[in-house]
Amino acid sequence: MKIVLTGDRPTGRLHLGHYVGSLKRRVEIQEKGASDAIYVMIADAQALTDNADNVDKVRTNIGEVALDYFACGINPLKSTVFIQSQIPELCELSFYYMNLVTVSRLQRNPTVKNEIKLRGFKQSVPVGFFTYPISQAADITAFKANIVPVGEDQLPMIEQTREIVRTFNATYREVLVEPNALLPENETCARLPGIDGSAKMSKSLGNCIYLSDTSNDIAKKVKSMFTDPTHLRLEDAGHTENNPVFIYLGAFAKDEHFKAFLPEYQNFGELKAHYERGGLGDVKVKKLLNDILQAELKPIREKREELAKDMTHIFEILKKGSESAREVAAQTLSEVKTAMGINYFK
Ligand code: ATP
Ligand code: MG
Repeated sequence: MKIVLTGDRPTGRLHLGHYVGSLKRRVEIQEKGASDAIYVMIADAQALTDNADNVDKVRTNIGEVALDYFACGINPLKSTVFIQSQIPELCELSFYYMNLVTVSRLQRNPTVKNEIKLRGFKQSVPVGFFTYPISQAADITAFKANIVPVGEDQLPMIEQTREIVRTFNATYREVLVEPNALLPENETCARLPGIDGSAKMSKSLGNCIYLSDTSNDIAKKVKSMFTDPTHLRLEDAGHTENNPVFIYLGAFAKDEHFKAFLPEYQNFGELKAHYERGGLGDVKVKKLLNDILQAELKPIREKREELAKDMTHIFEILKKGSESAREVAAQTLSEVKTAMGINYFK
């Protein structure tokens, strides 16, 4: 069985990082029929772990994230899209898994460490936030998912889940399935940097190009992008490493884009070589990136606008998805409790 599960926190609309890091892959798997089931989770409960005082933000973004999914091609007839908080079985699973993980193991989790730093929690980390890798293990194992398409930042989470699965199965009985992360084939897509050049495009950092951005927003953002600060004059040799404009081009540019928008180069390799040797200006490169992103995002934005006209329908899909996801999670929880010997009345 090939079971795919992934999720996104409804802390904002989805951006290019989500798109190349995970969303595109989910749609590909869905369209190829390369799996037995696909679950796509809107992780509102997880989003609340660092937004307890901002429930409104999380609630509003559930609809936004759902629109992003369906606009990108997630098809509710083929994938089960659901809202995490509507599946109480996930909390129960987390509660039992908490006994299988040590505090020091969580403290060592590099993603948690980094996110605590980014959010400026210092000594006041909410317990829920600290333990979110455990709840993520519950999300994945509840569906017995073995394929989890994610960006690189999620690797420590998948490793944590694998450990919980092994501990559970060894302590009780072989019930849970070890998941594998599925990273994008193109390395630059596994951690797309922000337009400010910071390590990761992230909703919480405000350095994103959103899938729903208007054509004007995209143009403005591309213009403002960080490039190579040492590339001062046109004839200077430029650096393409750590240069987000080139990183984005690496993620998005195809040969046909050159034919359409910048025919003096055949492909990305030629453009890159020219920039590195000097004589190619940032304005021209940014114009190409803008053209490519406009072409890629236009159909998504238009479909999104169309779908947004009927939010009742969107929430009906989420309700149905949540109901059917809940049945699966309840089945796993029952197996878990039986394995633990606490299914007393069964
Ligand atoms: P937040 O800042 O609230 O954590 P986020 O932008 O990090 O939001 P998540 O919802 O945490 O987004 O991540 C959802 C999925 O998208 C994960 O699989 C994650 O690996 C992937 N992802 C997020 N940002 C990027 C990025 N910049 N590059 C590649 N993948 C990404
Ligand atoms: Mg994140």
